[in-house]
Amino acid sequence: MKNSPGGPVQAPARSADFDILVVGGGLIGSAAALGLSRQGWQVGLVEGLPRDALVADIQPATAVGDFEPRVSALSLASQQLLDQLGVWERVRGGRHCPYQNMTVWDGDGTGRIQFEAAELQAQSLGTIVENRVVVRALFQEILDSPVGLIDGVKVSGWWQDASLQGIRLDDGRSLAATLVIAADGANSRLRQWAGLPTREWDYDQQAIVCTVKTGQSHRSTAWQRFSRTGPLAFLPLLNEQGDSHFCSIVWSQDTVEARRLMALDDATFAAELERAIERELGTVEAVSARFAFPLRQRHAKDYVAEGLALVGDAAHSIHPLAGQGANLGYADVGVLLQELYRSRSAGLSPADAAMLARYQRRRKGENLAMMAAMEGFKQLFGRDELPVRWLRNTGLRWFDRLGPVKHRLAAQAMGMTRSVPSG
Ligand SMILES: Cc1cc2nc3c(=O)[nH]c(=O)nc-3n(C[C@H](O)[C@H](O)[C@H](O)COP(=O)(O)OP(=O)(O)OC[C@H]3O[C@@H](n4cnc5c(N)ncnc54)[C@H](O)[C@@H]3O)c2cc1C
Repeated sequence: MKNSPGGPVQAPARSADFDILVVGGGLIGSAAALGLSRQGWQVGLVEGLPRDALVADIQPATAVGDFEPRVSALSLASQQLLDQLGVWERVRGGRHCPYQNMTVWDGDGTGRIQFEAAELQAQSLGTIVENRVVVRALFQEILDSPVGLIDGVKVSGWWQDASLQGIRLDDGRSLAATLVIAADGANSRLRQWAGLPTREWDYDQQAIVCTVKTGQSHRSTAWQRFSRTGPLAFLPLLNEQGDSHFCSIVWSQDTVEARRLMALDDATFAAELERAIERELGTVEAVSARFAFPLRQRHAKDYVAEGLALVGDAAHSIHPLAGQGANLGYADVGVLLQELYRSRSAGLSPADAAMLARYQRRRKGENLAMMAAMEGFKQLFGRDELPVRWLRNTGLRWFDRLGPVKHRLAAQAMGMTRSVPSG
């Protein structure tokens, strides 16, 4: 028997409570739990937050403070996965904003790229949704499903014994399963307890997020301006009345600059924001409370160990400049569902080592490629030398005219090049 530092001194001799236990009911873990339960596995889901908070009503939005500042730009592939789980209709029943255009430009030059859904024969490039809208929809389905939900309590330890993996909860209970899926976020305790090492890059940057109201409509466009100190994104939102003057902003800045911006009063911050986005949307009329997140790119060297699989931010957390974190997590879930469906059809254990290795192999490449691309972007726009700026701007203008290559990149970001698992 192996005990982690956070584990109990002795594991109780016992049988499994579940085939699969998912730890963490954020955007990713709750989707994994629901999908696996739909396949017929006996699934438990442990989430630190209480269910009442997760399914609480969301009040209509009339002011900036009514929106949740954390949003995701869900790709078409993520939407398809949520649709297969029977959740997308619920998400669409809440606040959401499909966007048809994306404009990306270099604040220190003249380069600009424009992406349009129409060019790709798509209805939208993606949909901006508040994270709580998606989590609420997932939990509403979970409460109507056979998933054993253990909420309002945290996992405080982990143990392994023969073919069982166990977790200890901070109320003293202990649960056992054949497979544990760690979906407990970027600082995953399970990943640490299992001794899975990570490769990490600290950007010495923070992302400031908040909601703003602008003088002009966002025109169903996601706006992103790059500058030497970091990218600024204005992501379009719609309230229940279809008012298109609200945006969620993600402003990644070097830590010192982020601290300065966080310390400003609302009016001065709004004025700086207006300048930084070059008044593309007119004046910034109102800003909500601001939150700052330290930015760290992190990648687990292995996504699996005996009886354990990492998904979502527990396996990889990525710079938010391309808004791909949740999308990569949903792609993990899609592949894991496909692999576990195959195991179930073949009568194999949900912890089958070959199946887990295939999951890791199929996901690592894409996640690493996306992380490398983000790193490249970050480096390219972080440089101030004249030749690099010239190349950057010429490259952006040239790229904008390269129809097929540009379309391929957009299709990849939308997840249109990835097949959505049907298992
Ligand atoms: C500023 C910013 C902007 C972003 N914008 C985008 C975007 O536009 N598009 C996009 O795709 N992604 C975006 N992301 C990334 C995205 O938010 C994450 O990739 C996504 O939320 C990860 O989901 P997750 O379920 O893996 O982890 P989390 O959302 O961190 O969920 C982990 C869950 O586990 C629970 N938990 C943790 N520990 C325990 C424990 N010990 N016991 C019980 N429960 C536990 C937590 O309560 C939580 O519910 C952004 C991220 C940041 C920081």
